[in-house]
Amino acid sequence: MKAAIITGGARGIGKAIAHKLASQNIAIALWDIINEGEATADEISSTHNVTANFYKVDISQYDAVAEIIQKVLDDFERIDIMVNNAGIARDGLLLRMKPEEWQSVISINLTGCFNCTKAILKTMITQRWGRIINISSVIGIIGNFGQSNYAASKAWIIGFTKSIAKEVAKRNITVNAIAPGFIETDMTAAIPEEVKSSYQKQIPIQRMGTPEDIANAVAFLASEDASYITGQVIKVDGGLVM
Ligand code: NAP
Repeated sequence: MKAAIITGGARGIGKAIAHKLASQNIAIALWDIINEGEATADEISSTHNVTANFYKVDISQYDAVAEIIQKVLDDFERIDIMVNNAGIARDGLLLRMKPEEWQSVISINLTGCFNCTKAILKTMITQRWGRIINISSVIGIIGNFGQSNYAASKAWIIGFTKSIAKEVAKRNITVNAIAPGFIETDMTAAIPEEVKSSYQKQIPIQRMGTPEDIANAVAFLASEDASYITGQVIKVDGGLVM
């Protein structure tokens, strides 16, 4: 049985990804900083009848990630799929942005992705099979007003994805990024309705995305069917950015 780690899996897009992979008989190691992950893991294992364990971890901490990966490997013996999904936004105009608002976004979105990828890579190389899927954002491609920290972190993920894809391709490990558009989760719940509806008008498919829209793309990239796809950025955004 294959096994996957999903960071930020307690809720939102990560939770939908965990459900989708579990529905394909893949065991789940759910990582999150919030305790809600425990209930989500229980829900996943009872719904899909697969092992789903919760591990509480702050992915921005290198040593904590190295320690938790050891626990996961003791529990699952192998990890085939790593989904780097955990991320935060701390929006504000650059003129007013505090250094800690810059740093927290970079530490979680960027350094977190580095910490988790580095921690799992040796295992995948030894297995000679692996799928790494990094959740970027269309904002990392087009930028956004008041999101310089977030956009920088998500653009970096794209460069990181392409570089690691080149480093490990011959080991049968693919590394791809997904760039979601506007997806209905707690992260976007705070956006005022009038701003949301103006975004919606710009989306050719005329609706916000759902976490399941992203989960479906992750499941494809994680599958055997995607074995010749690496170093790519797949936009899942209803056609917003073409
Ligand atoms: P979400 O609902 O906020 O869920 C993200 C989860 O990650 C939360 O449970 C969060 O905990 C957790 N997390 C935050 N910092 C962490 C850390 N240091 N270590 C471990 N877990 C941590 O977000 P989402 O909307 O599902 O987004 C998931 C990913 O998709 C993010 O990378 C986001 O940037 C990206 N994305 C989202 C959209 C969108 O429209 N929603 C669009 C493009 C890209 P807390 O509650 O403590 O923060």
